[in-house]
Amino acid sequence: MTTRSVFAYAAHRIRRHPAGEITLTARCLAPGCRWELDATSDLAAGDEACMAHTGLNPGHDTFERTWSEVSLVTRLDRRDKLPEAE
Ligand SMILES: [Zn+2]
Repeated sequence: MTTRSVFAYAAHRIRRHPAGEITLTARCLAPGCRWELDATSDLAAGDEACMAHTGLNPGHDTFERTWSEVSLVTRLDRRDKLPEAE
């Protein structure tokens, strides 16, 4: 390892992968209920599924919902360098 590699610094950016999409999963938190929503990229349909579950099962009105995405980290070139921290 050289001294140069020890002190090398490169700024990076993280963002949603351009080929990726946000997906939603959910599960009902009512005691004893095993209802779960499989991962979907149709977020409105996911919301509808939760509301439909509540409509069919009064009292099942609390859900754990998780949104997920694929992220991409890219190294910035000199033109895109982040401003220095103050
Ligand atoms: Zn339920």
